[in-house]
Amino acid sequence: MPPNPEFYDPGTLLAVMSTQPLGGALDYKAPEGGCHLGAFVEVPLGPRKVLGVVWGPGQGGFDLAKARTVIRVLDVAPMRYELREFLRRAAGYTLTPLPAMLRLATRAPGLGKPPAMLKVYRLGEGTPDRATDARRRVLEVMQEFGGLAFTLGELAEQAGVSGSVIKGLVKQGVLHEEAAPRDLPYPKLDPNRAGATLTGDQDTAAKALVSSLKSMDYGTTLLRGVTGSGKTEVYLEAVAQAMRQGQQALVLLPEIALTAEFLTRFQARFGARPAEWHSGVTMTERRRAWKMVGQGAAQVVVGARSALFLPFQNLGLIVVDEEHDTSYKQEDGVLYHARDMAVLRASICGAQVVLASATPSLETWTNAEAGKYAKLELTARYGEAVMPVIKTIDMRAEHLPASRWISPSLQREVKARIAKGEQSLLFINRRGYAPITLCRACGHQIGCPHCDARMVEHRFSQRLQCHQCGETSAIPGICPACGAEDRMAAVGPGVERLTEEAQSLFPDARIATLSSDLFGSARALKAQIKKIAGDETDIIIGTQLVAKGHNFPRLTLVGVIDADLGLMGSDLRAAERTFQLMQQVSGRAGRVETRGTAYLQTFQPEHPVIRAILSGDEVGFWRTEANERQHAGVPPFGLLAGIILSSPDPQAAFDLGNELARRDGPIRALGAQVFGPAPAPIARIRGRHRVRLLIKAPKGVALQAAISQWIGQFKLPNQMRLSVDIDPQSFY
Ligand code: ADP
Ligand code: ZN
Repeated sequence: MPPNPEFYDPGTLLAVMSTQPLGGALDYKAPEGGCHLGAFVEVPLGPRKVLGVVWGPGQGGFDLAKARTVIRVLDVAPMRYELREFLRRAAGYTLTPLPAMLRLATRAPGLGKPPAMLKVYRLGEGTPDRATDARRRVLEVMQEFGGLAFTLGELAEQAGVSGSVIKGLVKQGVLHEEAAPRDLPYPKLDPNRAGATLTGDQDTAAKALVSSLKSMDYGTTLLRGVTGSGKTEVYLEAVAQAMRQGQQALVLLPEIALTAEFLTRFQARFGARPAEWHSGVTMTERRRAWKMVGQGAAQVVVGARSALFLPFQNLGLIVVDEEHDTSYKQEDGVLYHARDMAVLRASICGAQVVLASATPSLETWTNAEAGKYAKLELTARYGEAVMPVIKTIDMRAEHLPASRWISPSLQREVKARIAKGEQSLLFINRRGYAPITLCRACGHQIGCPHCDARMVEHRFSQRLQCHQCGETSAIPGICPACGAEDRMAAVGPGVERLTEEAQSLFPDARIATLSSDLFGSARALKAQIKKIAGDETDIIIGTQLVAKGHNFPRLTLVGVIDADLGLMGSDLRAAERTFQLMQQVSGRAGRVETRGTAYLQTFQPEHPVIRAILSGDEVGFWRTEANERQHAGVPPFGLLAGIILSSPDPQAAFDLGNELARRDGPIRALGAQVFGPAPAPIARIRGRHRVRLLIKAPKGVALQAAISQWIGQFKLPNQMRLSVDIDPQSFY
């Protein structure tokens, strides 16, 4: 028989990629019984045992007698070629070492735990020969929890008895001991339950997606439609089709807070809940999800960006909902963009991608225009709902006193809504009470001791907080610079301050504030959203949290307090972000029956972005923006990469930055340019000084290879960190 390239006989040399930062794979001998390519294994590394994946044949080139042997093969499905290839390509694209990439794919605890079964205990038929207190407590617990099975530890803890009491009851037949799988499979989902009756537009879009899925091949589709047009309804049909074909589906959502509403709808559609994967999921559930996905026993996963690294066996569909959302870019550790990685993974495993948004990113919009992505549009809102009327309030004409942010015009509109029993939303994209705390005697501003950032006052918690590093401190009564007493003043608006103003302007209104930091948990936030959606609120005051997909049926007025915020940044995507955010926020108004109105308070009503929003000429806006970027040779028409050097010593970071800029041969060879070094916009975070270089390259060149070669010329001094951000999304 010819040797099987996918299987290593005992003693053969193989390469194992571990999750340890070693650079590359190490050679080991296959264990007794052999192992498969892709198997998850435990290997010795120095005195430790570490997790790894069998990556290919060993490299050899050393004394084979010295090769150590794989300790054991874990009882989980081997990593498929498709996922290994995805990790390799993602590592190459983001210039991340493979072990760090592999860590993303193994982020579930206890994968190495050997027994897949565990002993559990249930109530049996027998009666105890002797009733002791301890025995009675065990029986009470069993009865209280009905037919549930407990592990020995759980039962002992619940009843407050030792394990021997339980074992004694087993001997007498009072309790039954049985084996149960440690990680339970998920309930079966039924793709053939009836969904909503789709409207014409929706039906056409759903049919197109279903037929793409039937191709069993890679493809990406932009599903564009205003908020409320039924995008979710439509892509759930694609999810159903994947299931009918026996394939797995992944739905990525940008915000954990949104999953609750989604899960309810999902359950109504398919009869049970999918697997969940995000930071709110317990460790036990994570392991269960990871394992079941790997066994093909989870049909659908709903999750955050890191769900892209789960070991799917048969992935047929990835939905990226709200694909323009900035939270899809991971901004620390491995710097990757989940939308791009979704497309990469799908193209490797032959799956379909659906990018859903009311306000697609310019990248996606351009790919769709160029025909690289298919495009489906839902033009109308579902039912009676129509798009809101959008108007500006010219703040130059409003004569608002200092420290007031709600213009007289906006006040009148809010009052009229309250009188009619309708809801208003006041939107400001700033957390906390006031962005600046300043001494009126000397002008000193309170800054973070570790970062180049101002401390932001949070009046609900009565503290100052740094939004970069989380440092908090008391609000000083005495100026730390000049010693003046009681002269510290809050300057500028935040969501909490706006609440205060609204309370004084509308004393009888019921006001709810929605800001991510006001809620200790996703559950508390969910409760607040539910309350708002119900009948208990007249005015919602919120940060960008409210811009995302929640349904507030009585909302008919949106007031954007500072539409200029965001237009001023030097950020490449400032206009795009502002445009999207304003569209999303104003899309909150009039979701159900009544036509809503959105007012943008602005000092620059003639700004092109504001005008594009008003005219509703979305395509016009995108074309203009695309032209400008094309002209400037920036994404998506050119490539950008950021290099951040950080060190406790600012001079060292600058010196290395200058060296990099001087020896930029490999970059220039591409026809690309290096800009900088310059202090990063936030020049210090957590005590580390940050210096930034920016590389601008024409599209289509081998940028990553050149960057590796370039930075490979340098040895990083102690304490220095260098990170490469391919296609940076934010410029801080
Ligand atoms: P989007 O994802 O585009 O914001 P949704 O799919 O959430 O839109 O739809 C908005 C609301 O309209 C939801 O409450 C949804 O259940 C409802 N809806 C949309 N299409 C239909 C339909 N064809 N039949 C019944 N309800 C629908
Ligand atoms: Zn700080």
